[in-house]
Amino acid sequence: MQLLDGKALSTKIEINVANEVKEFKSKTSSVPGLAVILVGQDPASAAYVNMKKKACDRVGFYSVTHEMPGDISQDAIENTITMMNKNPNIDGILIQLPLPEQIDTTKILELVDPGKDVDGFHPYNVGRLTTGLDGFVPCTPLGVMKLLSEYNIDLKGKNCVVIGASNIVGKPMAALLLNEHATVEICHIDTDDLKKHTLNADIVLVGVGVINLITQDMVKDDVIIVDIGVNRTKEGKLVGDVDFENVSKKSSYITPSPGGVGPMTIAMLLSNTIKAAKAHADERV
Ligand code: NAD
Repeated sequence: MQLLDGKALSTKIEINVANEVKEFKSKTSSVPGLAVILVGQDPASAAYVNMKKKACDRVGFYSVTHEMPGDISQDAIENTITMMNKNPNIDGILIQLPLPEQIDTTKILELVDPGKDVDGFHPYNVGRLTTGLDGFVPCTPLGVMKLLSEYNIDLKGKNCVVIGASNIVGKPMAALLLNEHATVEICHIDTDDLKKHTLNADIVLVGVGVINLITQDMVKDDVIIVDIGVNRTKEGKLVGDVDFENVSKKSSYITPSPGGVGPMTIAMLLSNTIKAAKAHADERV
């Protein structure tokens, strides 16, 4: 069994982005900029935003977080996005999800300039992904693809079972795998007999949020496991969706959790932001 070490790869990617920032700076006399909108007091969202901000600092981006109260109006968020769309110092805009119930999330995501949509959630970028065109791809599934590629895992013709069908994880994950000519199944909460699907998989990619959803009896020998889930045990320990201790014994490759997909997600945010900045470089010179 070999670990798919997302921490090590994300460090390498960060170093590359930091070098690209230096080059960008010398060409444009400016730095790439990322703006984040954080609404409400959810501690997990605040922690994620904080990690993203620290990563931006490490590579030399300018970053700004617009913190808004949980009872904020739709108009106020929309006005902030419109302002950031127009701001030439901002290359990437990130809306930390989930937004409070009174907010129409779809409308908010659709308002972000697709050229600054570094999370890849705008329907324009979703369409480009599903048609195999270049655009912004959601950071978590993009990070998984980089990790698989780093370990030279060939996807062509492989049976891939994606568990979880959200717009930010499962669906773009499936689209990326399909674009690489894998044979893809998507399972979700209403899937009947999950084990029947996973037993046939060369690669299982799970992003659900259920501790020990994937157990040793559900996978075949030499399976490749990508654990995207993030859960906290009663004891406060962070774990994924896979029974790592037992499933790893049957796997050829497996992501640790934490230390697998999580750091790759942040690295892809940095790489999407430098990509956006380069596309905007002419507007800065
Ligand atoms: P979500 O709640 O939007 O979607 C969960 C998906 O899992 C749904 O499609 C649902 O149908 C499916 N599901 C739920 N219970 C299931 C079950 N028992 N069997 C099969 N499918 C089931 O969540 P999300 O935003 O897609 O996040 C999923 C998980 O991935 C969470 O644990 C989240 O914390 C994690 N996540 C991790 C990263 C990272 O960087 N590592 C990034 C984003 C999300």
